[in-house]
Amino acid sequence: MENLNDLNEKPNLQKQHVTELEISEARLHMAMASTNLGTWDYYPQTGKLDLNTESKKIHGLYTDESVDLNKFLSHVHPADKATIQQNIDHALNNITNNTFDITHRIVRFNDKSTGWVRTQGTVYFDEYQKAKRLVGIILDLTEAKLAEEKSAKLAAIVESSDDAIISKTLDGIITSWNYAAEQLFGYTENEVIGKPITILIPEDRLEEEKLILDRIRQSKKVDNYVTFRVTKSGLEIPVSLTISPIKNSSGKVIGASKIARNNARQKMAEAQLLRYAENLELLNAVGKVISERLDVEDILQKVTDATTQLTGAAFGAFFYNKLDDRGESYMLFALSGAPREAFEKFGMPRNTAVFHPTFMGESIVRSDDITKDPRYGKSAPHFGMPKGHLPVVSYLAVPVISKSGSVIGGLFYGHPDAGKFTREHEQLVSGVATQATVALDNAKLYEEIQKLNDKKDEFIGLASHELKTPVTSLSGYLQILNRTLSETDRNKPFVQKALRQVNKLSELISDLLDVSKIETGHLPLSFTKFDLVQLVLEVIELTQYTTKTHRIVMCPEVESIMVFADKQRIEQVIINLLSNAIKYSPNKMLVNVIVGINNDRARVAVQDFGMGIHQDQQERVFSRFYRVEELAAHISGLGIGLYISKEIINRHNGKLWLESEVDKGSIFSFEIPVKQ
Ligand code: ADP
Repeated sequence: MENLNDLNEKPNLQKQHVTELEISEARLHMAMASTNLGTWDYYPQTGKLDLNTESKKIHGLYTDESVDLNKFLSHVHPADKATIQQNIDHALNNITNNTFDITHRIVRFNDKSTGWVRTQGTVYFDEYQKAKRLVGIILDLTEAKLAEEKSAKLAAIVESSDDAIISKTLDGIITSWNYAAEQLFGYTENEVIGKPITILIPEDRLEEEKLILDRIRQSKKVDNYVTFRVTKSGLEIPVSLTISPIKNSSGKVIGASKIARNNARQKMAEAQLLRYAENLELLNAVGKVISERLDVEDILQKVTDATTQLTGAAFGAFFYNKLDDRGESYMLFALSGAPREAFEKFGMPRNTAVFHPTFMGESIVRSDDITKDPRYGKSAPHFGMPKGHLPVVSYLAVPVISKSGSVIGGLFYGHPDAGKFTREHEQLVSGVATQATVALDNAKLYEEIQKLNDKKDEFIGLASHELKTPVTSLSGYLQILNRTLSETDRNKPFVQKALRQVNKLSELISDLLDVSKIETGHLPLSFTKFDLVQLVLEVIELTQYTTKTHRIVMCPEVESIMVFADKQRIEQVIINLLSNAIKYSPNKMLVNVIVGINNDRARVAVQDFGMGIHQDQQERVFSRFYRVEELAAHISGLGIGLYISKEIINRHNGKLWLESEVDKGSIFSFEIPVKQ
């Protein structure tokens, strides 16, 4: 600090003054040391540069290392060199303005790292106005600069955040407000700083703020609190808030920072997700419903209803081209959202410019306002919508194309408001239209099968009817022949065999006739009162007589059960069950028959221990002409006995069912009310 002393050149100072000076110099020295202040001293005339210890430390020099001015200046950061030179030159050439004060970067001598310093200097001149000394101080600003940079970065982050970031005191007074807050709430920074945060809180939620501040005072955070806040224009918006305490350096809570995120987008995304889920559910439901339908009109209606709902259309229509028996096409249609009369008076949509792309299967047409479409209003006689037509502004039309590529129809939607349909709606409807095509193809196939089936029934009915007469007379002649032949006649056994075969044939024919009668709903029943136990015993006796392989055992639970039923038809059922039991248990001997009564319902069960029926086929054995594949080949039958039996029992308000296990046997049971 010698050099600084020299500045105050006062040659005639007395001893005690020097001492005081020494003391104040020592004080100054201490003060400078405590503030990390460096000093420098330069003599232009000799080129001597003195740096104190702190200066050297700031510049990364050893305490005993000395540098000349050039070397010293070479460690000014290249970007700041020119400014320094300018400032120094200016001070050197300016007696009246002989100071400079610059904040600049340096490149430290030892590790070449960059630091920030503030260099101040004053130039002293001799009597010839030549610069004699440059004296100054150097302050290390590196840390302060870093802190400044850090806080500038933080400020930039806060400012550029998409979330509103607000700080407030513990009394709820707003102290800072970023750009996103301005965007979200509509207030500028100037309008809200110093104002209570309650200006953002809807009246019915003011209590919330108290609770939030209480939590903050306890140094607790509020995380993702979903609520509503109010904007400058009075609009309530959904927000999610995260509020954290702000603490001072001693850890005391002095305020709160609040991040508010506008939840509207999230809410919209949630709503969209929900809509997708609902649409998916609806699509699935539609798919399921229409794939189960085999009736064209039903499919058209279901598809129209569902897609009208999916698109939010005010009304929807499905026009479907159908071919009649003569191969001529006619149009069926289904409507949703509008009564049929609303359409009927206009006739079918024709191949006008607007409908053309749909009926030619060219493309989907979607219009926010069809009345402004260049294709609209060009065709006679209506030139636009006929008078009284439902008001269609938004319009969507999707062609329905069959697998073979032919256009089988079109789906049309309308809404009286503009811009109602979107691409998403197009996709949804196209998806359903594809499903509908498959369902309509199936329905067509089903219709064809139905027709063939009807033809088959017709044939069976006709054939069995035609067969019945010759077989009956054949049986008559054989009976006569049988009676006329003596017991010893060697032809008698042949006649008897022929008679048995003719009887079998006649049973088959009468079964086929029964099927025909059931199909046409003409199976006549004639009810009488009889004893069911007695009937079962008789049938068993008769059947036992025809079989040598099986033993039929009857277990009557009661001696007699009087029922009111068609005796002949019930007998037919019992015979059928017994003969099946024998037929389908070729390797077992026993067949059990149980007859009982329960709550005014008589029950007969026939049990065998034969091949049984697989679970999957148990329901189907009651259908017409159904036979279990593996058995059909080597056991004769037409697959109609159980079908007729079931119908007979149903007609008695009873039920016929089976319990069966493969290779263990089956129990076929029926139950009929004792009184009808
Ligand atoms: P059919 O015996 O003339 O074929 P049914 O209608 O009486 O016609 O029976 C339908 C099918 O059910 C039979 O082909 C057979 O596969 C099966 N079935 C009927 N009864 C039995 C039984 N007791 N055990 C195993 N399978 C049976």
